Order: sequence, then C-alpha cells, then structure tokens
Amino acid sequence: MENFLEKIINNKPYRYQLEVANKLLSGKNVILSVPTGAGKTWAAIAPFLYAQKYPEIPFPRKMIYSSPLRTLTNSIYEDVLKSEFVNEAAIQTGEFNDDIYFDKDIVFSTIDQTLSNFLCFPLPLSQAQANINAGALTGKIDFFDTKNKVVHETKRSNKVEQAHIWQVKFYLWLMELNEIEVEKGILEYPKLREREEVFLDEEDINYLKKTIENIKTLVKQTNCPPVINARTCKSCSYYDFCYAGE
Ligand code: SF4
Repeated sequence: MENFLEKIINNKPYRYQLEVANKLLSGKNVILSVPTGAGKTWAAIAPFLYAQKYPEIPFPRKMIYSSPLRTLTNSIYEDVLKSEFVNEAAIQTGEFNDDIYFDKDIVFSTIDQTLSNFLCFPLPLSQAQANINAGALTGKIDFFDTKNKVVHETKRSNKVEQAHIWQVKFYLWLMELNEIEVEKGILEYPKLREREEVFLDEEDINYLKKTIENIKTLVKQTNCPPVINARTCKSCSYYDFCYAGE
C-alpha cells in the first residue's frame, strides 16, 4: 500500500495517510481532521483505487466524494482526473450535471446533491424517479387520513386500471412495513365520479414481495430486456434508460 500511495501522490506518503488507507481497507470508518492542503483527498481516495487495482480485496466498488462547495468539488475533481490511476470519474453538482444517476465508479458531488439523491428527493431527477438512485422502496401518497387510517389516491385518468390498484396496495404495504396502522386505500376518479376501495391481504403481500425480487433480478442482469415500444413508454419513469441509445 505504501508504494502504491507513493506512486499516486508522487511523493512519500504521510504516516496518517497510510493509517487512514489501512483502516478503510480493513472496513473501519474514519474521521480525519487535518489542515487544508495536507493531502486528505488522496488519503480517502487511495484505498478505493488500490481495491480497484486488486479486485480480490473486498471493498466497495463505488465511491461518492461529497464536499460542501461547488468550487471545492470542481477543483478536487480536476486534480484527481489528472491521475493516471483514475480510469473513470464524474462530477455531479448544481453546475455540472455529469452523472445524474450516480452511475460512475467515482462521483464527486456537493453534499446537497448526494443527500437529496439518497433521501429520495433527487435534485437532478424528477419526482417520478425519486427512488432510482437510492434504490429504495418509496411512495408519494396523495393524502393519508390519519383519523380513519385511509390512504387516498386521486387519478385524473378516465379509466380504472389494475396498475392504479396495485399502486395503492403497494402504499398500504409500505405503511405496514413502516408499522403505520392502515385500514384501506381509496382510489378517487373525479372525471368518472367513481371511487374504489382497495384492501391488502397476504396474497397481495406475497405478490409484491415476489415482484420486488423480480426487479432485483432484473437490476442484476447485464443486459436490459428489450423495450416494449408501447404508448405507455412515453410516460414511464424508465423511458430515459430504455431509449437512451435511440
Ligand atoms: S419505457 Fe417503461 S414501459 Fe417502456 S420498455 Fe422501458 S420500462 Fe417498459
């Protein structure tokens, strides 16, 4: 590790840089406080690059480097890019939207970008894509009547769809998972002047669990399934992914 660090920073590493690298590589968390210009960026990045070079080392394969200021993020990013050891990196700030899905192995971002993405209100994405970067199960419920414990969902559509019912069932399940007592869901269709009650049973929960497992399997595949070229694609949250190459 010492030789590797020396090559990266083009100088003999400080003892603390080595200590940080060894601690991170052994799976420990580190809080490092040193003056500006002391070389903390490389202390943080070097172990990641080392693990990239030696893939047999069990270490995270993605690094997100967050700092509070855009200017600081820009200058660190530019410095790091000069290194021959960095194959792929991106910058994601309010100014540079290089990696809106936090896709690259190394992403330099401002704290607001990082937090918003992983707290499911991504600044660079639409609300429909709120859960993509966090990879979390989330839902945006129209209204929850806490007194009667009813989830309300209003649809502007002029037809009742199975997908709407499953959307509400998913919300009911999310509430259950979060230990929030819930009685039922009500789907409202103002244009049709109709409302539909939605309930969740064990069979629904099993179906939802199975669907999540199928999604996980899909995510792990190296190739995307073929696009379906349907009208619904235009309003699908995954449109950008599916038709990016066209
Ligand atoms: S855009 Fe949506 S509906 Fe169309 S193929 Fe992709 S995932 Fe399926």
